[in-house]
This record gives sequence, C-alpha cells and structure tokens, in this order.
Amino acid sequence: MTRARNLLRIWASLTAGLLMSCSAPAPDNAEFFVFGTLVEVAIANADSATAQSSFQELQSMFQSMHRDWHAWEPGQLTAINEAFAAGQTISADQSIAILIQQSQALESASGGRFNPAIGQLVGLWGFHTSDYPIQAPVPSATAIARLVTAQPSSLDIRLTADAAQQWQLHSANVAVQLDFGGIAKGYAADLAIELLRSKAVPGAIVNAGGDVRAYGTREGQPWRIAVQNPLGGIIGIIETAADEAVFTSGNYQRFGEDENGFRYAHILDPRTGWPVKQVLSASVIAGSGIVADAAATALVVAGLDEWREVAVGMNLDALLLTDESGQVYMTREMRTRIELTEGMAKAVVLLD
Ligand code: ADP
Ligand code: MG
Repeated sequence: MTRARNLLRIWASLTAGLLMSCSAPAPDNAEFFVFGTLVEVAIANADSATAQSSFQELQSMFQSMHRDWHAWEPGQLTAINEAFAAGQTISADQSIAILIQQSQALESASGGRFNPAIGQLVGLWGFHTSDYPIQAPVPSATAIARLVTAQPSSLDIRLTADAAQQWQLHSANVAVQLDFGGIAKGYAADLAIELLRSKAVPGAIVNAGGDVRAYGTREGQPWRIAVQNPLGGIIGIIETAADEAVFTSGNYQRFGEDENGFRYAHILDPRTGWPVKQVLSASVIAGSGIVADAAATALVVAGLDEWREVAVGMNLDALLLTDESGQVYMTREMRTRIELTEGMAKAVVLLD
C-alpha cells in the first residue's frame, strides 16, 4: 500500500468517523498529519483568533510528539530503547516519563494484554513501517518464542527524577523496547484537548482516523461520533456532550499479509507473540483518550473469552466487539449509548 493510497483510505475512514449535527454553525477545523494518521480537530464557539492560535500550538505540539514518541524514526524514544537494550541508564524529559508511568498502569490494569514494551516483537513482525499491507515474511517460531520468553514489560522500567524534574530511566530487562503505537493517538488527543481547554475553548473534538476524543458541546448540541464497522460502513452513532473518548482497534485497517495471502493483525497477543485472530475490532467509550486507546487494543487481544477481565481491570462498561464473521457483540451499557444503523439492531448480541 503506498502512502498516497493509505492517506486516501484514512481520509475515507475519517469522513465516516465523524458526523456532526447539521443545525449548529460549522466549527473551526484544522487537519494535521501525525503518527501516520490524519488528525482532524474541530473547535466550537471560539473566536477566530483563539482558534487560529490554538491550531498553531497544536501543530507544534503534534510535531514534537511525533519526534519524541515515534517507535522507529530516530528520536527520543529510539535513543531510550537503545539504552534499555544496552542495559544503560538514560535521561528523558518529563512528558515521556509521564507516558511511561501511564503505560505501566494501563499494562497492569489490562492484565498485560496491552503491553507497550513489546517493540521487539512488533518490529519482528514487520510492523515498524508506514506501508500496509506488510510484505515482511512471517517470523520464525523460534524468534517469536525467544522474545516472548524474555517477558518484556513496561514495569521493568525504573524511573527516578532529580530536583529539576530531569528523569533517569533504566530497564531491568534488556528485552524491553517501548512502542507507543497502541496509545500514542489517544494520549495525543488528550493533550490536544487539554491545550484547548486551557484556552477556554468551550467544546472540541479530535478525530484521529476515526478514533475520537471530545469534550463540551457544539453550541449546546452533542457531538456525534460514528463507530466504524470493520466490514465497512458504520455500526452506529454515539452522542456525547461530556468529556469522553470513543476508540476502535482492529485488524481491518492495518495488517500484514504473507505470500499465501494469509492476513494477520497488527495487534499481537504479548503472551504468545502471535497476531490476534478471534476478534476483528473492539470499540470502547472511556473518559480519556489514553485509556480508550489502550483498552481497545487490550480488548482485541482479550477477545470474547476474556473481555470481562479487561472491562473490570480497566473500569470499562460501554464496549463492543466484532468477530471474524462480522457478528457484533456489545454490553448493555454500549447498547444504551449507541444509536444503531438500520438493520444492525436485530443482529447485535448482548454481552453479559
Ligand atoms: P490502531 O492503529 O487500529 O489504532 P491500536 O491502537 O490497537 O491500533 O495500536 C496498534 C499498534 O500498537 C501496533 O501497530 C503496535 O505498534 C502496537 N501493539 C501491537 N500489539 C500491542 C499490544 N498487545 N499492546 C500494546 N501495543 C501493541
Ligand atoms: Mg490502541
């Protein structure tokens, strides 16, 4: 897949991902390209000077996130990973230290299904690229087993801060390689919303390729967020006037393909080292982008057998899963929040 085709597809999913109500005046919009995804920010009811200065600040904020958190383009994170692999201590700035601490909490809460320390495995599967589908061959079972046995975990990382808030990082496990692919979008959306709130913008929405973080209203009207169907179209619409995030993870947009046309997900089960199979996508509503993003990834790993453990651990109630046949499963809480598209209501199976 070329970058241009990728962009087109991202654009298509973005227009499907965000529906706005028609009666309120158009909000101010801006688009950014970050982490390989087109990010659209819409802010409502702000004066145009505030809107323009906010967009400028967002642009430089997204750029520095891209530079600092990228899993394979050389930057702060790749330097940290090199130090971990060599068993060395390295200094880091406050923002990355916070991201690591949040990752540790989310990894624990998900029972290790969300694991941001499996960068070596992600790289082994060839997912450190912007070109999909992945052309790299399926790795050898021995190579996969070696990385799984090493049990990399973000909890292996020790963080210490000096008086000037300069952080020192050290990993007790040389197999740890951080990859924030499962939460970077969610955390970036949270920080974008934080910035807009600090400027007293009354309502905004950040749409990162169909993953949406919203707060406030659009001139008193709720924001309307579409939940994508991995088989095409949308499952339904969620309205929100609160501080919420609706994120979807799945193996439908980004995947690998071997020479026999066998498709595999870009989400790995850290316990086996293999791509997940049973679930096509998971969507979840949470109070923040970082939790929603990690939770959606963890739910894809958990699948229909283990979703409840993730829901309890991560304090989630509104979630849905789709399986390989396209069957949609959702919790009662999700059922009450989502306005299903026609025909979908009959097909939904409740999870309880
Ligand atoms: P999407 O790109 O659909 O939003 P995710 O949020 O689930 O997907 O992020 C997938 C990315 O996260 C992968 O490309 C990889 O970098 C990383 N990753 C894969 N498996 C896991 C996992 N089990 N835990 C944490 N990160 C993962
Ligand atoms: Mg995720």
